[in-house]
Amino acid sequence: MSAHNDVSSSPLARVVRSARSVMDGLAVTLSYLFRPPTTIQYPDRIPRPIVDTLPERYRGFLEVDLATCTACKACERDCPIGCIAIDLEKVGDVRAMTRFDIDMGKCMYCNICVESCPVPNQAPGDVEPTKCIRMTREFEAATDDFSTLTFRFIRPGDAVVPFRPKKGTVEPTEERGRIARKVLRRAREYNVLAAHWAEHLLRDDSPEAVNAPDVLAAREAELGPLVKAAGPDLRKLEDLVFAQALAQTDCGACGYNDCRGYARAILIGDDADLDKCEPGGPRTGRDLLLITKLRVGP
Ligand code: SF4
Ligand code: SF4
Ligand code: SF4
Repeated sequence: MSAHNDVSSSPLARVVRSARSVMDGLAVTLSYLFRPPTTIQYPDRIPRPIVDTLPERYRGFLEVDLATCTACKACERDCPIGCIAIDLEKVGDVRAMTRFDIDMGKCMYCNICVESCPVPNQAPGDVEPTKCIRMTREFEAATDDFSTLTFRFIRPGDAVVPFRPKKGTVEPTEERGRIARKVLRRAREYNVLAAHWAEHLLRDDSPEAVNAPDVLAAREAELGPLVKAAGPDLRKLEDLVFAQALAQTDCGACGYNDCRGYARAILIGDDADLDKCEPGGPRTGRDLLLITKLRVGP
């Protein structure tokens, strides 16, 4: 047992010490009540928009001024991850752009597309010239739906005739960010609806939906080359039917031990009922019918 008589380790001293350290902590907290706040009430209670405080070279959303775009596709070609999609087709007597999409959900903000673009623009308020595709200071697009991050600069159904620049001129353009804000607003309104509609179409498993003329034609175009490649080889055809048409659960609901048993029976002509695969439903029936129709040889 220690003979050392330490007052500071007495129970009372320990209580006092603990109380003092609690008070020290509270004093620090309390002092912040009398200091100006170091945080800001983002996004709505700030003296000026955050984007106005960002430097000119900030890399936010991309935008394109189609009024000065030549449709050269340099940006699309050079993007390392394929975020940009430009369609150029004949509309009446002229070639026009019918699509200019940028998938900002994929973009890594490398700026390569901007550097590749050959058309210089000058935006009001900017010190440096920019390009007809350029980064903006816009960045606010928090979303739980990725479809809102696909920026469509040309609305479906519209066409834009490419611009013909004069050599050596810097084209005037809109204030940077204005176009990005507009397409983002449009993406929020339109893309979500379009995505839900497409999803509904994909999920609709009714015989009417899976056999709609355009769906049928698309599926036939998909299966055609595969059936042709399999040729008359029964083993290859069985693989094809198994992989492309059947549900692959080996559940036996069709009356065969497994999916391949049903596939073989159809292929050798022992079973003409193409609607036996219950888990596959109308899609399987449709694909079996198409494969049978497209098949060559015995
Ligand atoms: S910034 Fe980079 S990743 Fe994004 S679109 Fe341009 S080239 Fe593609
Ligand atoms: S944005 Fe620039 S690089 Fe892209 S197609 Fe238009 S002119 Fe060409
Ligand atoms: S019902 Fe369909 S999934 Fe089930 S074993 Fe037959 S072919 Fe395979």
